[in-house]
Amino acid sequence: MTDKKPSTADEPAKPTGLDLLRMPFPAHQISKLPKPTKAQTEAVKADFKAGVRCDICGTWHHPKVVHLDYVGHAALTDRLLDADPHWYWEPLAFDQTGLPAFGPDKGLWIRLYVCGHSRIGFGSADGKTGGDAVKEIIGDALRNAAMRFGAALDLWHKGDLHAIEEEEIKPAEPEMITEDQRIELMALFGSLNVPVAEFLKAAGGIKDLRQLEASRFDGAKTWINKRAKAVREQEQN
Ligand SMILES: [Zn+2]
Repeated sequence: MTDKKPSTADEPAKPTGLDLLRMPFPAHQISKLPKPTKAQTEAVKADFKAGVRCDICGTWHHPKVVHLDYVGHAALTDRLLDADPHWYWEPLAFDQTGLPAFGPDKGLWIRLYVCGHSRIGFGSADGKTGGDAVKEIIGDALRNAAMRFGAALDLWHKGDLHAIEEEEIKPAEPEMITEDQRIELMALFGSLNVPVAEFLKAAGGIKDLRQLEASRFDGAKTWINKRAKAVREQEQN
């Protein structure tokens, strides 16, 4: 018999330090970032009325804009302070005037220090300029570096803040059976004396075996065998 542990030991200890950075953010700390395509932005620029006041993020944009989840600057700073009150960041390089040096792509590389460890991060503001852009770049770089420590990793996994570009999402074309598979089926129809037309009708009215989706190949063979067996049984009765 072992001694019963004190009840406090049954409760999981609250994560601290770097472990705390990995804890998911509560829903109220997750913001929605509209991510319009270039075409959507241009449509609203050309005609203000092509946009709507969005009830998800509160800004004016095209009604079909996709939103990405992200953790805002204040929530991330709060978490970094909880993990390590002495956290800080610095740019990777300074320019000749002593200010943080931006890269040729107007992005900023930083090093984020938490609990005696550091991670590099990169931030950008996607074509925006001015003071607000600099703040956005810093926030973006901090999110990126903190993500390397595991902060809000689940959100990045779902959709990187900069990953969605112009590409339209096309429904995937179903893959059809190969020519070899078609020949195999035709041989089976022939050897078992099952009319192909019967199968095409049963398969949803496709006109030709070339229109048979690859995922239905095995099912087609089963169908032909069953059909042949049924015919044989009918003939015997
Ligand atoms: Zn919105």
